[in-house]
Amino acid sequence: MKQIIPGLHTFTNLIVGRVYLIEDPDGLTLIDASIPPSAPKILKQIESLGRKPTEVKRILMTHAHPDHHGNLPLLQKATGAQIIASAQEKPVLEGKKMIDRPDPATLTGLSRHIRMPDTLLPAVAVDRVIEDGDRIETMGGLQAIFTPGHSPGHMAYWQPEKRVLFCGDVIFHMTGLTLPFAMATVDMAQNKKSIQRIAQLNPEIVCFGHGHPLTQDATHALRTFAQKHIF
Ligand SMILES: [Zn+2]
Repeated sequence: MKQIIPGLHTFTNLIVGRVYLIEDPDGLTLIDASIPPSAPKILKQIESLGRKPTEVKRILMTHAHPDHHGNLPLLQKATGAQIIASAQEKPVLEGKKMIDRPDPATLTGLSRHIRMPDTLLPAVAVDRVIEDGDRIETMGGLQAIFTPGHSPGHMAYWQPEKRVLFCGDVIFHMTGLTLPFAMATVDMAQNKKSIQRIAQLNPEIVCFGHGHPLTQDATHALRTFAQKHIF
């Protein structure tokens, strides 16, 4: 477990798919759930803070991809947390609809051949559906920002006073800032519009679904990256 700022942590050694933990006086919130078999690591790292897994009140999902959803059934069982996601992601998270995939005609080169397979996720009930602008009761108020493209109902989350942005898979930060993988992005043009939208915010910290958080000059880095993708 690594602290980003007081009250905000990221789990370590989860293989793929970053998970964040927010500490509030009345309980804990997770953002995304990573893949199996890392659920025991997540629970252990929660305990390393002197907290109990049952203190996790809610799990916010950015989107319904296997690398963000894999541990969700186990974590939901271990914590009893409320699962929160957008209306578009709900049927996918609930195992009722296949993951949306990009049209192969829009892909080029290798992406065309390594497109995500048809996937039905293990079912988890979504307890609360959120829309753009909704406020979630954690971190002093976290605002849902509808950022479709990578998936049709992708949500980012924004804390305006602390200037912390959780951008999910709108942008990757594994080898510098990059676009998400084309083979796993339903509509890249729409994703680029979502990049423009989050670049209007002025975050001090950006927390990604893949890669380390950006904790210095985040607004500048985000705007410089967004400039490159104006179309
Ligand atoms: Zn994804």
